[in-house]
Amino acid sequence: MEDNPTVFGQILRGEIPADVIYEDDLCLAFKDISPKAPTHILLIPKKLIPKLSDAKEQDQELLGHMMVAVGKITKMLGIEDTFRLVINNGAKAQQTVFHLHMHILSGRAFNWPPG
Ligand code: AMP
Repeated sequence: MEDNPTVFGQILRGEIPADVIYEDDLCLAFKDISPKAPTHILLIPKKLIPKLSDAKEQDQELLGHMMVAVGKITKMLGIEDTFRLVINNGAKAQQTVFHLHMHILSGRAFNWPPG
């Protein structure tokens, strides 16, 4: 286990609460504590990968599994037609929690390019 878990590591350990909406063997999804859209879900792998660029060849199946989980989660929430999937990679890209996570955002208008 991690010595200094991130806040998401603590959620995985059950040390702090989260509003979990989906879980399977490899990943967990819960509501963002500070939502940036009416629906704002975070999907994390149970395995610690600090950021996407740290993923290794052997993580290919896990990452594919998470993308399929996004499909399941968005269908479950009825937002499968319109959502945005975001991964911030690195502090300069506004990543603040260094446990890989996918933001699933829906329920409002989106701009392009993103800010
Ligand atoms: P990022 O800036 O991409 O690293 O995203 C981190 C996200 O984690 C932010 O949207 C935060 O609001 C969210 N967050 C931080 N702490 C918690 C928590 N305890 N439970 C749920 N979401 C959290």
